[in-house]
Amino acid sequence: MVSPTARRALPSVDRVLRCPAAGALIEEYGRTLVVDNIRAALDEQRSRLADAGSASPDDASLVAAVAARLRAATAASLKPVFNLTGTVLHTNLGRALLPKAAAEAALAAMTRPVNLEFALDSGERGERDAHVETWLKRFTGAQAAMVVNNNAAAVYLVLNTLALRKEVLVSRGELIEIGGAFRIPDIMARAGCRLREVGTTNRTHAGDFAAAIGNRCAAIMKVHASNYAIQGYTAAVAEAELAKLARDHALPFVVDLGSGTLVDLEDFGLPHEPTPRQALAAGADLVTFSGDKLLGGPQCGLIVGTAALIERLKNNPLKRALRVDKITLAALEAVLRLYADPKRLQRELPTLRMLTRSPTEIEAQAHRLLPALSQALAGRVEAQVVACASQIGSGALPVDALPSTAIALTPRARKRGAAAAALAAAFRALPVPVLGRVKQGSLILDLRCLSGGSREEDEFVAQLAQLRLPAA
Ligand SMILES: *Cc1c(COP(=O)(O)O)cnc(C)c1O
Repeated sequence: MVSPTARRALPSVDRVLRCPAAGALIEEYGRTLVVDNIRAALDEQRSRLADAGSASPDDASLVAAVAARLRAATAASLKPVFNLTGTVLHTNLGRALLPKAAAEAALAAMTRPVNLEFALDSGERGERDAHVETWLKRFTGAQAAMVVNNNAAAVYLVLNTLALRKEVLVSRGELIEIGGAFRIPDIMARAGCRLREVGTTNRTHAGDFAAAIGNRCAAIMKVHASNYAIQGYTAAVAEAELAKLARDHALPFVVDLGSGTLVDLEDFGLPHEPTPRQALAAGADLVTFSGDKLLGGPQCGLIVGTAALIERLKNNPLKRALRVDKITLAALEAVLRLYADPKRLQRELPTLRMLTRSPTEIEAQAHRLLPALSQALAGRVEAQVVACASQIGSGALPVDALPSTAIALTPRARKRGAAAAALAAAFRALPVPVLGRVKQGSLILDLRCLSGGSREEDEFVAQLAQLRLPAA
């Protein structure tokens, strides 16, 4: 029971509002939010008073509690984090980071009028995709190109346009699921197409495709097996062969590349990843790929191919529902411009810069950061520099890992698994949350994505002082 005197001692909302400090809060947050949070703070006090022995707070500490509530309630939900997971293109962490030029172009497009659908030379209505089409044609060799909201939308638009109420042939080995519920069979169904599975999981031959072509068949599709690899006794039909088969039957041949990069990654010392240019050269009529995977741009889906098919896609009313906004286009154009100069690309495109960081540089950074981490962990956690392997992520090159260096943090506790999970939670609770991965009782912080000697590295070190280690 709340004692009547204690309850009486709690101030009214109006009295708290009249405190001088409350005035500053109203200035900062607006009266409505302040009143709501005073009520909430008083409610909390009331239930606390129900516990025998607790005293009614003074007005000043009430206002302080209200201020803390307001800070928490208005803190940004979407905020920067440190990606030390070792996965460079992490879908849950927003995939590619944009280069500065793209961020500046996006900012201009956000805050000023732009010629989004306006042809400045003729003064007539223009086309939004035209701002990036020339670059995309140049880097892929395609006749035409267009952009939609993401690669899932690109695949959906292609299927719906080419094969509504008809069949699309796909090898059984390519019926993929990408994290976040993108599944080829489901997209097919929603696009209004019938999936015709061809071959077996591990082996599909040209003859399987040929036998499956009937009069309801509207397209042959190849899907890049993004996030897994089939190894051992396998066979797949080469793109050129599928393209010929499609051509012989007057069917379009479409390729979903998933990550599709516009440069040969081998030129940068990375494993090879198929490019849209290669797929088109092999005879694909349409190729779809993501803007925010290896390409390193904003979230979008790119479609390149023959002029006739791109025109059909543009005329599908769904294009309007799937189109990109001016912010995306501005950022994409700036990213594509970097591709004109591969030297500059490696310097300025964060995705490529992180993927090609030298292992010795990452290792040196680990040794540089070790003392600060050891100090913050106050002897309760062992910190060690260890070799590790980074992933490219987002379905690119699932079996190729990049040698990297991590700091492994191992709690000196009996229940190491639980202690490592608690340590990970403490790092996530920092002002700029630090995300690593927990592995066999250690928290592994892969430093590949923390740019060395940068403002971010300083920020990372500075906030370690605020680390609240879990109770032992
Ligand atoms: C990633 C991926 C997609 C989905 O692309 P989003 O841009 O995430 O929509 C589709 N197909 C393949 C093969 C992929 O790798």
